[in-house]
Amino acid sequence: MVTGRYHVTTFGCQMNAHDSGRIEGLLESLGYLPAPKRDEADLILFNTCSIREAADSRFVAHLMEARAVKRRRPETVIGVGGCWAQSMKDEIFADYPFVDVAFGPGQAGKLAEFLASDSIGAQGYFEFESFTADLPMKAGQGHHAWVQISVGCNCRCSYCIVPTTRGREVSRSLDELTGEIQDLAARGVVEVTLLGQNVNAWGRDLRPQRSSFSELLSCVDSVEGIERVRYTSPHPKDMREDVIEAHASLPSVCEHIHLPLQSGSSRILKRMRRTYDRSRYMDRVAMIRERVPDCAITTDIIVGFPGETDEDFAETLEVAEEVGFDGAFTFIFSPRRGTEAAEMSDAFVDHDVARKRMDRLLEVVRRRGSERAQRFLGRDLEVMVEGTSREDPARLRGRTRHNRNVYFDGIGAPGDLVEVSITGATSQSLTGEMALAAAAQRLSR
Ligand code: SF4
Repeated sequence: MVTGRYHVTTFGCQMNAHDSGRIEGLLESLGYLPAPKRDEADLILFNTCSIREAADSRFVAHLMEARAVKRRRPETVIGVGGCWAQSMKDEIFADYPFVDVAFGPGQAGKLAEFLASDSIGAQGYFEFESFTADLPMKAGQGHHAWVQISVGCNCRCSYCIVPTTRGREVSRSLDELTGEIQDLAARGVVEVTLLGQNVNAWGRDLRPQRSSFSELLSCVDSVEGIERVRYTSPHPKDMREDVIEAHASLPSVCEHIHLPLQSGSSRILKRMRRTYDRSRYMDRVAMIRERVPDCAITTDIIVGFPGETDEDFAETLEVAEEVGFDGAFTFIFSPRRGTEAAEMSDAFVDHDVARKRMDRLLEVVRRRGSERAQRFLGRDLEVMVEGTSREDPARLRGRTRHNRNVYFDGIGAPGDLVEVSITGATSQSLTGEMALAAAAQRLSR
């Protein structure tokens, strides 16, 4: 058995960031200490992502660096967890024989078993067994915490590998989640982000009693000390009236909804197997605007999905203009091994065409995002301090309830809620000043 220092590198989404935090908590509970650099570690771990091919090649370059460390110090243990490991479960030990242990997203707990065993052979663990959230939390949580509420996804989006890597939806119980969030609040956490691959489908698989995502939001809202609740990633099909209503009525649920569009063309949405069309998506937007008028709406858009014509893309542009997203994550389609869309090679869109479409989309997204941001000018907004500005350490960096970054002059520590008068607004961020009286009051404390 190896004990000593560990180093974890995380790739991909917030779920992986959450899982890595729990893996670190597990290792520390076993007596491991963090190593600042990979080549100083006895246990080198990677928590991997499989969402894009480009991420795979970046990750493999890191894995080769770990192999070089192992060549210098053969007793070093190399572990690979997460979605890439799961998707490579049949090849990983043959292709990368220097890997000692590999495990899928539902199997991080098996790491303890592996480290405690005398086994010298490589071990792989790939059947979903438990939530990573069951592993110990790391000490020193900070003001924000990720809370894993479910894993897996029952959807079958044709471009996505998640249902293969993370399996079907499994929700954690309401009692367990409420207990965890109370515990986090007692440790000083004031903001939680609820995590799930299809977060707002939470609760439907619970037995004997099904529950709904809006019920969960209401329970989290009632936990003393939790000031802000966010969640990611929701699916438009599950963005029901009660969830939107929760944003209007529950004080801690923030005025921000991420509503992944993916395409504005109903024809392409069907090829993507998204289970909603343009008009249903626009209905959701209209309901959000009616119930929570100041709500920020952000989205994800894929450009150049196989079979996307100029007319389909024009529909995406129209929706982007019409909605006026506060922000958008935009991607050019890239085929993902093992997905249905990867088999549509006869309909792949030429890369130059996709690139030009992307430029046009970015122009609309930036312009509309900047126009939307102007509504904040002159307002006093509640900002949660997150730290100092990287570019100007004399200024503070924080976030509004709308999930906008704000850079401002003022005084405060991470997790403090302060009021900031907004003096500048772009599509990316806001700038402002903390009210003088409030700053003076903090200084005198
Ligand atoms: S909803 Fe679609 S895109 Fe999201 S995780 Fe499930 S299958 Fe993938």
